[in-house]
Amino acid sequence: LRHGDGALDVTDGWRLLVVGAHAADFVWRAAGAIALHTRSGGNATVVALSYGERGESGDLWRVPGQTVEAVKVDRRREAEAAAAAVGADFVPFDLGDYPLRIDEAAEERLVELVVELAPQVLVTHPERDPFNPDHPVAFNAVERARKLATGAGGAPAAFATVPPPALYVFEPHQPEQCGFVPNVFLDITPVFDQKLEGMKAMASQTFLQQHYEQRAEQRAVQARYYGATAECRYAEAFQRLTPALVERL
Ligand SMILES: [Zn+2]
Repeated sequence: LRHGDGALDVTDGWRLLVVGAHAADFVWRAAGAIALHTRSGGNATVVALSYGERGESGDLWRVPGQTVEAVKVDRRREAEAAAAAVGADFVPFDLGDYPLRIDEAAEERLVELVVELAPQVLVTHPERDPFNPDHPVAFNAVERARKLATGAGGAPAAFATVPPPALYVFEPHQPEQCGFVPNVFLDITPVFDQKLEGMKAMASQTFLQQHYEQRAEQRAVQARYYGATAECRYAEAFQRLTPALVERL
């Protein structure tokens, strides 16, 4: 992901922050972007607001006598392995899922993290999702944290602020129903093996692996209409929400 001005200074530290409602959300939707980012020397952090222990741990709930605590332990191990596969730090907030709720302390923690990391790029869920109770909650928390961390357009404030990160949303499960209109495509072919390793690490949601491999192939076909070559076999799609500041058109 590029900051948008085409002149991002990697020597100053290129920082990406991805926030998901559940432990695995980043894997299906942005693992390629993260791997490209870290492979080129950037630093990436993944926040999981919850482990997705109740609502998004499908296969683990087939185990007789399963408990929420045991599922959380498994999900944490899986997500840490997936994050490691793409070179990212994994930060679990453990706020609970289905429903995910952002209390005052969680909001403060998220703002502090944005200020501390000062990412140039921030990625989360789209605002709307008619099929998921938690993804829009994550969007709203991230959008609000971004505003609280950046203040009013760079003017001095009573609190610590950081330069405004570009805000992107990653691809939801049902793009059309979520109003997701991608305007940024990323060729992830060079790092697809890392994304695959990350997806395989999420053993509790095996049914999604093939699905997201196919999605990446479809996005690659579309990316060719925007200039990608035939060598682009896998792509991820994003929607950039904040305007880009450019030096030239
Ligand atoms: Zn999710």
